[in-house]
Amino acid sequence: MDKMGNARREPPRVGTHERALSMTIEEFQRLIERTYFERDSRRGPGGTFMWFIEEVGELATALREGDKEAMRAEFADVLAWLTTLASLEGIEMSEAAQKYAGGCPRCRQMPCACSPKK
Ligand SMILES: [Zn+2]
Repeated sequence: MDKMGNARREPPRVGTHERALSMTIEEFQRLIERTYFERDSRRGPGGTFMWFIEEVGELATALREGDKEAMRAEFADVLAWLTTLASLEGIEMSEAAQKYAGGCPRCRQMPCACSPKK
């Protein structure tokens, strides 16, 4: 227990020995920028979007094959490419995510009470 009386939660386990990184959306975007922004800005948003879509395709394959290890890798890649695209366009992902802060942006309910899409 911490001094606020809350039970300390263990971070979720990733693999057998790794521990999950705990970071905010903003911290992740800064990390991706430090790692890739220069190269990705030389390529530009058009070519970068193509790489993003390629990773989405790889995620589709992992999902179809039910390969959890591949899914974990591809979810990371899709998130990284999505985040770098946002940076190239000057979009803060943490601000964009606010769209969902109040639940469903259409009906404002949590869980969503809209009629399901077919
Ligand atoms: Zn809704």
